[in-house]
Amino acid sequence: PLVLGIETSCDETGVGVVRGTTLLSNVIASSMEEHARYGGVVPEVAARAHLEALAPTLRRALDEAGVTLDDLDAIAVTSGPGLAGALMVGVGAAKALAVSLDTPLYAVNHLVGHVGADILTDGTSGADAAIEYPTVALLVSGGHTSLLLVRDLVDDVELLGETIDDAAGEAFDKVARLLGLPYPGGPEIDRAAVGGDPTAIRFPRGLSLPKDMIKHRYDFSFSGLKTAVARWVERERDEGREIPLADVAASFREAVADVLLTKAVAACTDLGVPRLLLGGGVVANARVRELAAERCAAAGIRLRIPPLSLCTDNGAMIAALGAQLVMAGRSPSGLGFGADSTLPVTSIQA
Ligand code: ATP
Ligand code: MG
Ligand code: FE
Repeated sequence: PLVLGIETSCDETGVGVVRGTTLLSNVIASSMEEHARYGGVVPEVAARAHLEALAPTLRRALDEAGVTLDDLDAIAVTSGPGLAGALMVGVGAAKALAVSLDTPLYAVNHLVGHVGADILTDGTSGADAAIEYPTVALLVSGGHTSLLLVRDLVDDVELLGETIDDAAGEAFDKVARLLGLPYPGGPEIDRAAVGGDPTAIRFPRGLSLPKDMIKHRYDFSFSGLKTAVARWVERERDEGREIPLADVAASFREAVADVLLTKAVAACTDLGVPRLLLGGGVVANARVRELAAERCAAAGIRLRIPPLSLCTDNGAMIAALGAQLVMAGRSPSGLGFGADSTLPVTSIQA
């Protein structure tokens, strides 16, 4: 089926077109720069940017795919989780299109969409075919840090763990800010860490909360790490020492990568699932990628990292998940759904 996907859950306006598991176009407009002076995504700014960007992004996605609206067999849209005001823009547009074209509409889960992105990469990275199921998936972005067990993309996704406070990308953004680096912080810290000693400062790993406060077995926590970096930097400044930026960046990055991969690999090993799929903007991180390759090789886990254009928020992954639902014979979502900022990962289709 020819499926259009619309994604507006955060600061990327993404529209993509797929035919079955084949990627035809993936156009993204980001309002990231508009958020830079605030040091993080501002919901109201993101929603307005989506309103402006959606029509031209849709136009380009159709043109690049070489299709027209009338050719579409279905439309898929992210209905959650994400920023409510931002989601509403995509949901409203998708409903309007579906009604005017009389096309089936599928409301889908953003996080499951991230997992679905991998389907589109089949065969494109050498001999490597798309991931098989079951797989563990680690989704790390500015808004999410989620570890999932995916037994079946359209049927059975289980939450193994998520952050109880800051998302990993958010931690990068906040630590960058306290180091005087611009937003978004991830790429800045990656650059600053070059040549730094990752063992210079031993920043805390993982959950510092008592076990009984953890909801899921593989939950994450990054606010303690952020505070530890802040305290360390403060103390050095108080004592009149210069901040060794490269060492702080490398040590912080190491702590994040270590905790992400330790839990992801533990989940694979504990559950006997020798496959790990990565997704989300933090996957761009050089150390995360390196450590993922090392740890997975050591544990005999097959690692999949889709190209970055499919790892960060995009419309093609939403179209891909929509196409899977169509091919699985699922009924469309109808028009009665709304944006759901806290849609659980178990709701693959809303
Ligand atoms: P959502 O959470 O809804 O998926 P998002 O817009 O926060 O939305 P992405 O666009 O996928 O997610 O990712 C942006 C985040 O990724 C930012 O927090 C950014 O700092 C982080 N990031 C980008 N590049 C890197 C990098 N090289 N290292 C670490 N983090 C990075
Ligand atoms: Mg983004
Ligand atoms: Fe995302």
